Amino acid sequence: MPQKSPFQIDIPATDVLSYLFPPGTTPSDKPIWIDAVETEHSLSPRQLLQWAKRLGLGLHGLGLQEGDVVMVYSHNHIFVPVAYLGISGSGFIFSGTNPAYTIDETIFQIQNTGCKAILVEPGLLPTVLKASAKTNFPQDKIYLFSDKPAQTTNGIRDWRTMVGSVEAAEKWQRKPLSKEQAQSTVAALNYSSGTTGLPKGVMISHLNVIANVEQSIYMRDLEQPYHPSNRPEERWLGFLPLYHAYGQLWSIVAACRTLTPCFFMRQFSYTKFLEHIQNHKVTHIQTAPPVLVMLAKRPETSKYDLSSLKNILCGAAPLSKELQNDVSDRFRLKVVQTWGMTEVTCSSLHVPGGLDDRSGSVGYIDPNAMMKLIDEDGKEVGVGERGEVHVKGPNVCLGYWRNEKATRETFDEDGFLRTGDVAIRDHKGWYWIVDRKKELIKVSGFQVAPAELEALLLEHDHVADAAVVALQFEHEELPRAYCVIKDEHNGKSTEWDIERWMAARVAKHKHLAGGVVFIPEVPKSPSGKIQRKVLREWATRDAKNH
Ligand code: AMP
Repeated sequence: MPQKSPFQIDIPATDVLSYLFPPGTTPSDKPIWIDAVETEHSLSPRQLLQWAKRLGLGLHGLGLQEGDVVMVYSHNHIFVPVAYLGISGSGFIFSGTNPAYTIDETIFQIQNTGCKAILVEPGLLPTVLKASAKTNFPQDKIYLFSDKPAQTTNGIRDWRTMVGSVEAAEKWQRKPLSKEQAQSTVAALNYSSGTTGLPKGVMISHLNVIANVEQSIYMRDLEQPYHPSNRPEERWLGFLPLYHAYGQLWSIVAACRTLTPCFFMRQFSYTKFLEHIQNHKVTHIQTAPPVLVMLAKRPETSKYDLSSLKNILCGAAPLSKELQNDVSDRFRLKVVQTWGMTEVTCSSLHVPGGLDDRSGSVGYIDPNAMMKLIDEDGKEVGVGERGEVHVKGPNVCLGYWRNEKATRETFDEDGFLRTGDVAIRDHKGWYWIVDRKKELIKVSGFQVAPAELEALLLEHDHVADAAVVALQFEHEELPRAYCVIKDEHNGKSTEWDIERWMAARVAKHKHLAGGVVFIPEVPKSPSGKIQRKVLREWATRDAKNH
């Protein structure tokens, strides 16, 4: 029997904008999205709502149809929440792009989303112009998107030139989505390779977002000594990238829902991160294990006063309990784990925020959700046994964008999402993630899809076949390619040549930092599938000798 969450909560079923700004209520004037460097540069919910509506009116004015995708290609800044809520709140779909993407990766995103407008940070315009030229994307649907007005560049104008007026925005009130519409209307397309293959657009509905914010806040407040309505004020640091679900959920939607000031960092830099925690007296951060490694190991940490920090929420990749406890003890704070994936909006398991867990658990199932653990034979396993996590709940995505086959394969016969992560649970309903059986590699918390790198390697003139797996160390994973070189090119290129060739074509986190190894043949099953298990054994052996 699937395990049900012991908690049930009410989840408002409407669109994200009406959830955050119920019609007839007055939005707060408190600064919530604050530039961490220029703190006078900020937005309150009232300002955000006005800008979001102006952007929505502008996109309608461009002739976009409801359900069209708008791509946002930008580092973090305080207007990215305007884009997220303005696009999704006006009947369109938000899709963020990693600002580190190369031209080819941007082309993939433009084509795969089928986006109808692009908002691009001025510094990234050259990449978008080259990608748009190759995809025949209309230049009049590209706008510069910065937190400060930008000058027209190469004929591309600032987004403020197309938005609706303040007066029009004040009058504009879209009809809130009904429950059925909230369930089926896509708010965001976040990219993930899922359990296999290339990155795919994960369709996140309005209800998914609202449910996951409510679930996450409920879990954060659980077992706390205070009453949720009388919570001590928190201050967050917004450094998680906003093209990823984790950043969107906390730094945009949850910050607005809980009216928590969130100091935005354009990009992560460790010393700036320490400086901002100290200067802004940040109390809570949401992060991934690589940041905990830095907190524990980097010598500059001790130069900063981090005593304001009370709680670290950690997810996105495996975290050892030794590191978790080391950071908890060193900084006298709670490290609370969560597990999730893009396909569950952000997360589905949380350690209650008030507990000081020392066991490395990822906690309980979120409210209103269900889980089962399935073994290799497709049978459900019980307490203490390993099984793949299958999950169902209001936060589980609608499926993959324009990819029915992948959607079908991702859900089991009972409508549970197959996650590709292996866990055990105890008799109290606590979960521990013990393995990952899917292809995915996680580098500093970011996704790397082996299939994407393998397809690219095959474009190299000298490569006859290739397979990519993770070289695993205690706190990190590095993509490693095993390549077969064509007979006629044997001896003409080195492992290092292939590594460099790849580095010129993909964002940094996808570089083959785990190395390239030439082999005579890629191990495959009789049906031609790469035997990743064998390759993982090779990589484990290689990691020991590294
Ligand atoms: P993403 O879709 O980018 O959020 O990546 C999701 C994947 O990250 C999951 O399927 C896991 O493999 C991994 N992951 C996320 N949280 C954890 C965690 N707490 N422990 C271990 N792996 C995790």
